[in-house]
Amino acid sequence: MNTQPSNTVALADPRAAYLRNRIAIDDAVQGVLQSGWYIMGENVRCFEEEFARYLGRRHTIGTGSGTEALHLALRCCEIGLGDRVATVSHTAVATVAAIELTGARPVLVDVDPDTHTMCPESLRSAFDSAEGTIRAVIPVHLYGHPADMTSIKRIANDNHAVVIEDCAQAHGAIRQHRMAGSWGDLAAFSFYPTKNLGALGDAGAVVTDDDALAEKARLLQQYGWKKRYVSECRGMNTLLDEIQAAVLRAKLPLLDGDNFRRREIAALYRQRLSSISGLCLPSESACQKHVYHQFTIRVRADLRDALLGYLTENGVLAGILYPIPVHKQPAYCGKIEVSSSGLQTTERMAGEILCLPVHPDVSDDQAMKVVHVIQRFFSKNSTFSVG
Ligand SMILES: *Cc1c(COP(=O)(O)O)cnc(C)c1O
Repeated sequence: MNTQPSNTVALADPRAAYLRNRIAIDDAVQGVLQSGWYIMGENVRCFEEEFARYLGRRHTIGTGSGTEALHLALRCCEIGLGDRVATVSHTAVATVAAIELTGARPVLVDVDPDTHTMCPESLRSAFDSAEGTIRAVIPVHLYGHPADMTSIKRIANDNHAVVIEDCAQAHGAIRQHRMAGSWGDLAAFSFYPTKNLGALGDAGAVVTDDDALAEKARLLQQYGWKKRYVSECRGMNTLLDEIQAAVLRAKLPLLDGDNFRRREIAALYRQRLSSISGLCLPSESACQKHVYHQFTIRVRADLRDALLGYLTENGVLAGILYPIPVHKQPAYCGKIEVSSSGLQTTERMAGEILCLPVHPDVSDDQAMKVVHVIQRFFSKNSTFSVG
């Protein structure tokens, strides 16, 4: 259902998602406004329960954002100054920022070219070569594709490190019959408005099966208070607010349907684009459910920006997530530890990736428009060889 026919196809459309669910969301927000209870109330408690049930985990702890959820999860594991945390460079800078908030040092590892997620061999060499002890690993289920959790958990266990999943792009993703967010010791979710499950502002959550970790998270998320105004430990302030929790409760029942629609659009792209030899489509296998936060294709580096420009000229707003790997960002370049096996795949991919609109409010007609523009681009470029 597309409530806003328009000539451009957007990469994300949180407004369309709101309009499609307007009555339920308006009611939810009104309910909170009139209740006079705006923080730590019934909606937060219920959403935490409902989201935990959805994932099949024991505990969900709402937070102010996904970044804060990662930070809180690390703090629950007592990770801080002097510790190292392994993650990927091909991710939202948030993953690395959250590690640094604890005082720990990130160690960046390479990704697998097919799944765009953490490469287990590169993780192993990071453990072998890091200048200090790596105490935690944060795999990122990037674009909605679950990382290779079996291998990553084995390597982490061998090295006595905890695993914290970054599920910011993977609400509802499944690998080997297990939800993303049910593999690690803890997992962190973001409900940023454009994510698969999005609030109408910043919001996030930590999930875990471990009662002690959950209790710790509750303590740390509010100044270390067990009793109000008495800090048992040094905590922070990161709470999910009632309005966002009410919105999330209204939207959670729609998540599976939205992911289904994302997968339909992805299937359409796959069917229509697979014959173009200049394109590499995202990998899909039977043992997993990719939830297509992004549909990320790879194109020869010398054609990628031209294709992006051509799509934009023709009303298709594709995107590049992310154009610069973390270790190449001005803030981090030369100042961040990298796995001894290097980041070749990460660096190559940054020049090749292109994300096509795949959010649930893309209509079939719009998806076909995306296909046609790409087909036209490649028929024009088939004869002129670049580089
Ligand atoms: C969005 C995102 C985050 C951060 O979430 P916020 O809610 O924006 O703080 C972390 N990691 C990844 C992979 C993300 O996509």
